[in-house]
Amino acid sequence: MKTILSLLSVFVFLTCTAQKPEETEVWEPVPQIVTPAADIHQPPSDAIVLFDGSDLSNWVDQDGGAAKWKVEDGAMTVVKGTGAIRTKQGFGSVQLHIEWRSPSEVVGEGQGRGNSGIFLQDRYEVQVLDSYNNRTYSNGQAASIYKQHIPLANACRPPGEWQTYDIIYTAPIFDAAGKLARHAYVTVIHNGILVQNHVALRGPTQYIGQPEYEAHEDKLPIQLQDHNNPVSYRNIWIRELD
Ligand code: MG
Repeated sequence: MKTILSLLSVFVFLTCTAQKPEETEVWEPVPQIVTPAADIHQPPSDAIVLFDGSDLSNWVDQDGGAAKWKVEDGAMTVVKGTGAIRTKQGFGSVQLHIEWRSPSEVVGEGQGRGNSGIFLQDRYEVQVLDSYNNRTYSNGQAASIYKQHIPLANACRPPGEWQTYDIIYTAPIFDAAGKLARHAYVTVIHNGILVQNHVALRGPTQYIGQPEYEAHEDKLPIQLQDHNNPVSYRNIWIRELD
């Protein structure tokens, strides 16, 4: 009898205190449906296509005029001296897919070989460089956050081959007084390999000296750098995350 009673009390205790699986189910909001492309390098259904290989209509030069880079065979290529180009549209936090190719004819060394760059919000550079058998300072090689973060691996393909960057960028937040409230963060996947894992940016890219944040607009263009080397880009698309 005593055993039955104690078993009963255990049963009552368990049924009264047990949590139900439903209590931790969250049903709202419902994630929107995004249809992936058959080839995952191609834009999914909700992406904004910035360059599909046909023209530079989504880009402008440094003065806001027509971008002067060369478009050929589905790619755009830096024309030395014409300057950086920028998207007409501004962006905050994004997922960016971009493909690039350093020149097959190897010219120069270190920072002078296949140098370009992708500037998020016009000021935070993910380095583009031919880092295939080309030593330079590690925080300036391909897929570095220039002079801030060394990539976790050198995933470079040989010069002349197309390479992919998939970049996840979280824009910084500034308070009403212009003080930094949250750092910018970047994740970079280079040719399918994680090379920057949610690193905090220390401020805008600086060639000389230490970076320091300055308050800026919530949405700013993506900039591609003219570093005097004929680097090419293709298949550029972006998804807004804010
Ligand atoms: Mg660069």
